[in-house]
Amino acid sequence: MSDRLPGFNTLAIHAGAAPDAATGARATPIYQTTSFVFDDVDHAASLFGLQAFGNIYSRIGNPTCSVLEERVAALEGGTAALAVASGHAAEFLTFHTLLQPGDEFIAARKLYGGSINQFNHAYKNFGWNVVWADSDDPSSFEAAITPRTKAIFVESIANPGGVIVDLQAIAAIAKKHRIPFIVDNTMASPYLIRPFEHGADIIVHSATKFLGGHGNSVGGLIVDGGSFNFAGDDRYPMLSKPRPEYGGMVLGETFGNFGFAIACRVLGLRDLGPALSPFNAFLILNGIETLPLRMQRHSDNALAVAEHLANHSKVSWVSYPGLRSDRYHNLAKQYCPKGAGAVFTFGLKDGYEAGVKLVSNLKLFSHLANIGDTRSLVIHPASTTHRQLTDEQKTQAGAGPEVVRLSIGLEDTDDLIEDLNQALDAA
Ligand SMILES: *Cc1c(COP(=O)(O)O)cnc(C)c1O
Repeated sequence: MSDRLPGFNTLAIHAGAAPDAATGARATPIYQTTSFVFDDVDHAASLFGLQAFGNIYSRIGNPTCSVLEERVAALEGGTAALAVASGHAAEFLTFHTLLQPGDEFIAARKLYGGSINQFNHAYKNFGWNVVWADSDDPSSFEAAITPRTKAIFVESIANPGGVIVDLQAIAAIAKKHRIPFIVDNTMASPYLIRPFEHGADIIVHSATKFLGGHGNSVGGLIVDGGSFNFAGDDRYPMLSKPRPEYGGMVLGETFGNFGFAIACRVLGLRDLGPALSPFNAFLILNGIETLPLRMQRHSDNALAVAEHLANHSKVSWVSYPGLRSDRYHNLAKQYCPKGAGAVFTFGLKDGYEAGVKLVSNLKLFSHLANIGDTRSLVIHPASTTHRQLTDEQKTQAGAGPEVVRLSIGLEDTDDLIEDLNQALDAA
């Protein structure tokens, strides 16, 4: 046997999954059970004491979810992963493991709207303070660092699409100041960008989007890159101090380069509870089997639609890094040469009213607030997701009155373009 590692397509189908030991089942079975019988009292004690790995209770581990964890860890090139109930749960457990009350983290201003709310409002209750920086200007992250900064957070391809972040430049700043660098890789997926290769320490995913890929399950993943040494670092007591709930064990020492993933599971998921159901893990695993095919098709379709819109008389601008004229085109060539993803925005010359009419006239595109489905999706942020903001806040968030966001699906591009044409003609 050669020691060559399997390729991405092979890992997407096989990583983490062997035929079921009990039945020979080839597709990963759905272990729809809450709890697992112990061999004997000693076995139970070693599981509870973290001396042995195994299944106890499905809130902190389930065999179907374990396959998903191993698969995503392999695709991202991490040491271990944790599957959780949603992308937001992945972000929450990540910060719960890193931050103490009064701590700060720095986040890029261009983020998924739900993450902006979570950071600005929900995290205040835990005494965690977000400091905003500009991902187009990596030096703004360095300028925002204080002695209380415990993490840096960006999206690789940032919402609302069409923004490629210079991961290596921000990673260099994080390394220099010994701060863990967290990348939300939801929009790119590991098929387009592998953030650990660009200096990320931790990756989070909303599996609700491209990993699952079919608009049928909410889920999330945390992936440990194993690159940040938490042991002996007083700033991260969850990993560097003896844990009373585990007999004084120091997780960052005992578990070494996958200590972060373990801490998220045994201190975060166990005590806070956002578990992924095995049924949803099964659906997300099925989605991942075709991730490479889908992401390529999403990106190719999006480029074709973006090129068409860029030449349309009713469109004032298109923001898609795959376009040669786009301000992020060089970063796209560096970070995601295979394609720039499914999601992008464009502007309508006739503004707000034209946006409202467009979404009502489209037939093949579904008008809804999600991304990363096989189906093409459209939203007019100013009249929906960003409705409550002032005009100035809308423009700052990239949701001005004329802006339309598309998540391009896997249909025939000719059909997508024809649908856009008829809806624009009628708008
Ligand atoms: C949707 C999304 C989230 C939140 O994920 P949920 O699964 O909806 O909780 C986080 N980050 C990004 C980039 C997203 O698109």
